[in-house]
Amino acid sequence: MKVVLDHLTKKFPSRNKKGDTVTAVSDFCFEVPDGSLIGLLGPSGCGKSTALNLICGLEKPTSGRIFFGDDDVTNLPPENRGVGLVFQNYALYPHLTVRQNILFPLQNLKGKDRLSKAEMLKKADEAAKLVQIEQLMDRKPSEMSGGQQQRVAIARALVGDGEVIVMDEPITNLDAKLREQMLLEIREIQRNLGTTIFYITHDQQSALQLCDKMAIMEQDGTLCQLGTDEDIILRPANRFTFEFIGVSNFIPVVASGAGLGLDAGDSVVPWEGELPAGLSLSAGVELGVRPNDIVFDPESPIKVKVNRCTFLGSEYDYRVTLGTRELRVQQSALDAMQRGTVKAGETTGVRLVNPRYYPAKKEAQSA
Ligand code: ADP
Ligand code: MG
Repeated sequence: MKVVLDHLTKKFPSRNKKGDTVTAVSDFCFEVPDGSLIGLLGPSGCGKSTALNLICGLEKPTSGRIFFGDDDVTNLPPENRGVGLVFQNYALYPHLTVRQNILFPLQNLKGKDRLSKAEMLKKADEAAKLVQIEQLMDRKPSEMSGGQQQRVAIARALVGDGEVIVMDEPITNLDAKLREQMLLEIREIQRNLGTTIFYITHDQQSALQLCDKMAIMEQDGTLCQLGTDEDIILRPANRFTFEFIGVSNFIPVVASGAGLGLDAGDSVVPWEGELPAGLSLSAGVELGVRPNDIVFDPESPIKVKVNRCTFLGSEYDYRVTLGTRELRVQQSALDAMQRGTVKAGETTGVRLVNPRYYPAKKEAQSA
């Protein structure tokens, strides 16, 4: 099912005395193609759960509309939207067996959607098979592992034949190995069924592994960027996405003679770059550089002191200082093999490949 969000906004009345409203979702405007898996990614409190609740109908938007296919579902209650839900705490009914838990959404269908007992049992069996829990149908939740419980929750979301499923941090409670396995399984099930899934996480890694596209959200419910893994990693739309999605170094850019310089804390290193339009030194500019875009090159006039080198298997991770400014540098094991590593204690040069110019972060207002 294609899902369209049209200027979707949700504001909550404030919980503080000042009475400002909280904007949890701010003017979301995008279309999610049928059968895709879209991640909602952002720090805690940025509005991910609210966005999901709007999509499944647990919350009403302050303004804007939601379409499933061509139907405006903005005012439909959740049970009439045909959306499957999976939440962080699996919320299984502890006194019901697995079978009864999976049957639960089907038993609540009304009117023309009502199914016969035999039809319901058949659907429950099919859903259980998809997530490989068909041998556990008579157990209670307390008799299963976290991963098995989570599968039951997913089966319960699948059983209604909903063409849209929303998952709010569904695997946060699982250990690392099981998380990995569940991610693969969710992806597999989604591909087989062609369901549209909205998947919330605050974890970049699982979003990158799982999703066709990610919506990166910033505090106050703003959508920073909607894109594929490559869009977001290679072409971050702004400083927030750049900083959120990986390890980043920031170096302030200052005036140096007639040109630019890098503020190394205790000194200024000449920098042969050009300020992009729209940024001014007086308002503050910083270079954003990824650790693997800092390349050791003894010839470079940008000198750093190497303080620490850690071998991580596929790469070497360095802590270096430019003046008094600490930077993270990464060198792939392959590159290290070809060009040699640099030892702690050495001073050498670096080139900054692919630097990005961003407005300096405003100092947090003191309260
Ligand atoms: P996330 O899931 O990204 O952590 P939420 O969607 O839960 O974020 O919350 C976004 C913002 O909206 C937060 O500031 C939160 O305090 C506020 N909020 C969420 N639900 C309510 C509510 N029912 N009433 C008032 N404020 C809320
Ligand atoms: Mg949340």
